[in-house]
Amino acid sequence: MMLRKAEETGEQDLKNRILEMMALDNSDPMGAMVNGLAEEVIGACATLHAAADPARIVFEAVNRDDATATSFPYADGSCRVVITDGLISMIYYLCVLWAWSLDPEQRQGPSPESALRRLICPWENKKRTEQVHLSAALLRYHHVHHRVFGKSAKLEVFLEEEYLKLADMLQSKALQFILAHEVAHFMLGHRNLLALRNAAEVEASRRQEQEADRAAVSIMNAMTTKRPKSGRGLVDLITARSSSRGLNFINLVGIVIAMTGLHTVETALFLRRSHVHLKPAERIDQLAVVASRLNVQGVNRVFGDLLSVTDLACDTSAALPRDWWQAAFTNPRVSKATHSTEYLNSVIGLDGFHSCPAEKAEAFLRRCFADDGMSDADAALDELLAGSAAAFFRRLGITDAVFDPMLDRMRPLTFHTVQDEIFRSPALRQYESFTSRRIASVVLTRLLELRPDTLG
Ligand SMILES: [Zn+2]
Repeated sequence: MMLRKAEETGEQDLKNRILEMMALDNSDPMGAMVNGLAEEVIGACATLHAAADPARIVFEAVNRDDATATSFPYADGSCRVVITDGLISMIYYLCVLWAWSLDPEQRQGPSPESALRRLICPWENKKRTEQVHLSAALLRYHHVHHRVFGKSAKLEVFLEEEYLKLADMLQSKALQFILAHEVAHFMLGHRNLLALRNAAEVEASRRQEQEADRAAVSIMNAMTTKRPKSGRGLVDLITARSSSRGLNFINLVGIVIAMTGLHTVETALFLRRSHVHLKPAERIDQLAVVASRLNVQGVNRVFGDLLSVTDLACDTSAALPRDWWQAAFTNPRVSKATHSTEYLNSVIGLDGFHSCPAEKAEAFLRRCFADDGMSDADAALDELLAGSAAAFFRRLGITDAVFDPMLDRMRPLTFHTVQDEIFRSPALRQYESFTSRRIASVVLTRLLELRPDTLG
């Protein structure tokens, strides 16, 4: 129809453009990537000897900010595996940060050997610590945005082509591990334990997670890694270090980054988690038990910095030091996009609010509510400090229907979900200033985070 219109009006340019788009099929690029990666995973599934038919799995990339992957097995023997954009982009970001850490300078001209040396023998100098701090600030930037605005914002990092190629390859491997883990749940006949109702289910879920991890490693091992002919690029050099049998190096890097991606999201963004993924270090220890070729010390050497970065970014017991932020914002490889200095400074400020210690948070709110005549909010604060979340929400004017699901201890709950309800509550809407309202809702949620028992 559109094409005929273009022909009628004699718009050759327009017609060509439509033909180009038709040739591209205009399909969802994320979905296409996930399905391409899943094909290899399915091909390697034969090793599992399970009764389920992997050909009956449908893979889907969904446009959501939360970072999760889940499998939904159906009674008719089919299954849907879903992975969110949030997780895909978080994993890519960690791949970029890891590739960058191999050579922060990235001098002009290819010098992949220096990056490789870094892998074998990490530096012990100031530069390395600085790199960890600025990467932690970049990751925290994402976490602050998610907790405050519910958005997965990230500042782009520019890398030389060799390092970008490496990040691309690692992303594929990390996503394949996640898909393999979900496929394994289905193949092994696991139940989908989205809400854990009792200790027995928590235990069952932990066992399932470990089984799925182990099976996913076998699937990864069964996938062949293309060996380079004689390339001198970073990707070729690293692939050449990967053995063709057993847990090879590239797969291992992908697996650790996948685990770290899920972990950083679960730890930093959730007030309550339902999933019982173990910490990456624990998961690696578990895998070492079954994979005799897995050298845990070697893993720690290669990933020590990446694990430090995620630990520092997730540790909301204090705001990050200002000089870490400055190092990140002024680094020439970090894109500031269109952000003004004022905006970036406001993120540093928000970091202070969302990781405020309890006493400071309480004193701050008391003063603000008194100065601004916010008596309802002040009364709500009394209830919160007395330990009753239900009374707190009611005082804010939030209805039972809205807050009841938030108090269900079997459901996962993000920092932002709670913060947003408080932000939109009738009590805080008395604030004229949008910013004051936002800050008050962030600090109130922070107090709830510091008193996890209050939320049930
Ligand atoms: Zn799982």
